[in-house]
Amino acid sequence: MAAEILVFRNVRAVDPGSGLDDVVDVVVERGRIARVGRAAGDEPARASGARVVERAGAWLLPGLVDLHAHVREPGQEYKEDIRSGLAAAAAGGFTDVCAMPNTRPVNDTRAITEMIVAKARSLGGARLHPIAAITVGQRGEALTEMADLKDAGAVAVSDDGRCVTSSAVMRRALEYASTFDLPVIQHAEDHELTAGAQMHEGATSALLGLRGWPRVAEDAIVARDVLLAEYTRARYHLAHASTEGSTRILREAKGRGIAVTAEVTPHHLLLTDEAVLGYDTACKVNPPLREASDVEALRAALADGTIDCIATDHAPHSALEKECEFAEAATGMIGLELCLPLLLGLVDEGKLPLARVIAALTSAPAKIAGLPSPSIRDGARADLVLFDPQERWIIAKERLRSKSSNTPFLGREVKGRVILTMASGAPIFEAPR
Ligand SMILES: [Zn+2]
Repeated sequence: MAAEILVFRNVRAVDPGSGLDDVVDVVVERGRIARVGRAAGDEPARASGARVVERAGAWLLPGLVDLHAHVREPGQEYKEDIRSGLAAAAAGGFTDVCAMPNTRPVNDTRAITEMIVAKARSLGGARLHPIAAITVGQRGEALTEMADLKDAGAVAVSDDGRCVTSSAVMRRALEYASTFDLPVIQHAEDHELTAGAQMHEGATSALLGLRGWPRVAEDAIVARDVLLAEYTRARYHLAHASTEGSTRILREAKGRGIAVTAEVTPHHLLLTDEAVLGYDTACKVNPPLREASDVEALRAALADGTIDCIATDHAPHSALEKECEFAEAATGMIGLELCLPLLLGLVDEGKLPLARVIAALTSAPAKIAGLPSPSIRDGARADLVLFDPQERWIIAKERLRSKSSNTPFLGREVKGRVILTMASGAPIFEAPR
């Protein structure tokens, strides 16, 4: 049971949406933030039954929102299920998770969307928001019943994992989705240009003798989609931008007022294709890790707002699917529990501004998904993350809530740990002491 009154004492509260970055007390009462300010907790802390949380140097952030995660239920519960996925989310500071529809079966119907929503609600942890398919079976042909899907709880549509290749289908999808104000999330990949590809096409793929996935396979789709979004006046969102070219096209489109948004993953901000040297299957992702020039462009685009948000693309896989030949290995890595410490490492190094990283993990994705914006201000829903920026820990399989541990960051020491996550005033994760 949550305490009636919870007082965070002397925390550094960081909420770019409210222009807040200050050491304050934050008082939570009955699921909402009641007061924010210096010494605001003096009196509430003395109330009977009040819980006081004080931790030297700790930060308090709005609850994080992930626009792109693979929770694998229904159908591949040996990799992850709703329970373990939401537990991993809460441990990573996420109060809201949007789940991609490439499950087995694909989430392309009201019944599956309703099942996912009901299951998540019954667990009562982090909130789950399904993203439904754009086309039936994600086959890129017939459109799904988007009115039904939205009514059942879908916050967006996407064929993620597959690209909507046909221009005619994409045009109709944008037109149809816009009548329900649903964003269309595109996995931008020209599959003909990436047939048989194992990694980014460049010097490293040549060295390893692996077939390459050229940047233009992404850029060409993004360029076309931007034109379609402009023509249809629909909301278009680019999943996992990975190339310098995508950032250029997006910047130009936004400059002309087209309703395009984009996300980038932590791994595309952190790693280059050279991480694949040694055929490390943990680094096999889709889209692939690119080159240093792309990483620089992605960081710059995130910093200046060309890229709106950071999404994990949490993609759990079992050992069976990763401990094999590179060509046979599944694509993707987990991300929910590692996102915040890894990105704050980049902030520490001066590569990204803290306020942009926090906004890109909170208000920006919430806005795209049409969710209430998490915020640290009087009256807001108490979706909060207490974070210790100094605590060091080593990423290890045993520490992860996810059922899977496919990440190249295993064994790495990171700085910064989530101590407490709360959704609507109720703790959904507390770090073991
Ligand atoms: Zn994708």
